[in-house]
Amino acid sequence: MNENYFDNAASTPVDPIVVQEMLPFLTEAHGNAHSIHSAGMRAMQAVELARERVAALIGAEDPDEVVFTSGATESNNWVLRSYGKIAIGPFEHPSVAVTGCCVGAEVLGNEGETIMPPTSSPDLVSVMWVNNEMGGILDVPACRTWARNVHSDLTQAVGKVPFDLKSICFGSLSAHKFYGPKGVGALYAHGGCNLDPLLAGGGQEHGARAGTLNVPGIVGMGAAAAVARDRQEQDFAHATELRAIVLDELSSVSDWRENRCTRQSPFVLNLSFLGLVGEALVVELDCVGFAVSAASACKSSSHGTSGVLTALGVPADWAKGALRISFGRSNTKESARALGVALREGVASLRAMR
Ligand code: PMP
Repeated sequence: MNENYFDNAASTPVDPIVVQEMLPFLTEAHGNAHSIHSAGMRAMQAVELARERVAALIGAEDPDEVVFTSGATESNNWVLRSYGKIAIGPFEHPSVAVTGCCVGAEVLGNEGETIMPPTSSPDLVSVMWVNNEMGGILDVPACRTWARNVHSDLTQAVGKVPFDLKSICFGSLSAHKFYGPKGVGALYAHGGCNLDPLLAGGGQEHGARAGTLNVPGIVGMGAAAAVARDRQEQDFAHATELRAIVLDELSSVSDWRENRCTRQSPFVLNLSFLGLVGEALVVELDCVGFAVSAASACKSSSHGTSGVLTALGVPADWAKGALRISFGRSNTKESARALGVALREGVASLRAMR
């Protein structure tokens, strides 16, 4: 089944090495990391190792720049709710876009994939590194001149494409996007976190984020980070190859387009088929055992078309047919070819029905 799972941008399967490392912390090593007895100390040591591993993966100089959270949604909310005047990118995930809307953020304009400067002087600018629907790599370093504080949602970049922490003050990540468990993530804060806690309570995470530490989850995130660090180049090459295979299989299909940016993550392939609705293709492919997603799943306008694709200049007729294929370690060359064939057949059969 995993071979035919092409929705890795939504979530990746947990790596077996990660499961192995987590298991003791779900069974005999159940101590609270803030207890001072041996069981607590064992848990805390494992948390600190995980912090080092996550820091090493993202290139943070000091592990204490990493604060564990429940995931990118929490990290994004935390940063955006910590500043007065903020500006956000036009292609953001709902965890930034909706939060930005709640706090009265300016939504930056764009010309194609180029993001325009803010009209005011914000305290914080938030622009994602890699867009989750199309896989476009955005020019976050360009935002540095627009505000003293730059935040980037790194969720679709971590373990996948290179990014430079020097361009940002804050970065958000989720473990389940790089073969770790769900419900755990981190906030990178340059120089250590001095934000007021979003969650008040106990003094965990040096007072930055209250709540009993999710030790198994954090251990899993650390293990996943260690594997991702070793495999990053290999994974990138694998995704590039699989992407080319799927595209090759589509060469005989008419009226389709690839929705892409100039700088593109190979892990995401966004396609549109004229006259077809993305969801219909998702169902068609699911019937023959392939998991993909409609690009509009997370963020759709009232017409069922993706706001992100529309903002990136994809015409409405095309945007509603968009399909997102996202590659991962469990996919093989054979499964990519089989997906290409199934897609070709699915498009033909849906078009024949119209
Ligand atoms: N940002 C981006 C770019 C994402 O792709 C996702 C997950 N779809 C999130 C944030 C939110 O991640 P989580 O649901 O793990 O908090």
